[in-house]
Amino acid sequence: MRQSEAFVQCLHCKKTLFSLDFEQNLKVCNYCGHHHRLSSETRIAWTFDPDSFSELDANLRSGNPLEFPDYIDKLRASEQKTGKYDSITAGKAQIDGLSVAVAIADFGFMGGSMGSVAGEKITRTLERAAEEKIPAIIFCASGGARMQEGLLSLMQMAKTTAAVQRCREAGVPFICVFTDPTMAGVLASYASVADVIIAEPKSLVGFAGARVAKQAGVSKVPDDLQTAEFCLKHGMIDAIVNRKEMRATLASLVRTLGGHLFLSLSALNQTKKEDERGSKKSR
Ligand SMILES: [Zn+2]
Repeated sequence: MRQSEAFVQCLHCKKTLFSLDFEQNLKVCNYCGHHHRLSSETRIAWTFDPDSFSELDANLRSGNPLEFPDYIDKLRASEQKTGKYDSITAGKAQIDGLSVAVAIADFGFMGGSMGSVAGEKITRTLERAAEEKIPAIIFCASGGARMQEGLLSLMQMAKTTAAVQRCREAGVPFICVFTDPTMAGVLASYASVADVIIAEPKSLVGFAGARVAKQAGVSKVPDDLQTAEFCLKHGMIDAIVNRKEMRATLASLVRTLGGHLFLSLSALNQTKKEDERGSKKSR
């Protein structure tokens, strides 16, 4: 988005907005409702309880296993731009006081692409949720698999999807949020097999890009193909949620779907306390 100090221009309708209003409106245009892309830090700050996020696996860093030309230069440039080693930031946070395992994609890091590091971080997030019996929330923002890691990127699709199954076996809910864009290898793996899928309005959601789909299509492609609204109409996602309501919606989902987990955790804590009391008395 083009930005002077006091004003910004909406990327969609091109109207000029006061920076302060724009920030207060969570980077959603006052005029057309366009949801602008967010960095992972901003997303964390606006979604989870203040200072509750603790980052994990921050030091995982891609090599260049296929010796793809210029890959390392591109990685270093993205590292400098975002201050991260990869497109996914993972860890644990609280939402409305409830613990969750989270992973947030940043489109600013090589288009949010999924290589071996992003795949590993997503997998670890889901496994952490299953092990610790806490819900998992993943925010997607990706153009798909990372071409520079070729087959290794594609293998992340199978690996992350298998990790979703571990959550399922552990009875842990997995909530996925599609933001603009959620495409290709990410959509075709862990993202679309979540228990609950919500999307930000007008997010681009699809497999092949619209141009490729048009080129390959034998019939006319609908104008709204590959929007969150199209996916909702055709039953692929569960709800479209405005950014302002995202936090409350996620908190309510976590509380509702993860209720049995929190009950068993509090029962466990209660038993621990009673055991401690018992051992003190017997001393
Ligand atoms: Zn606008």
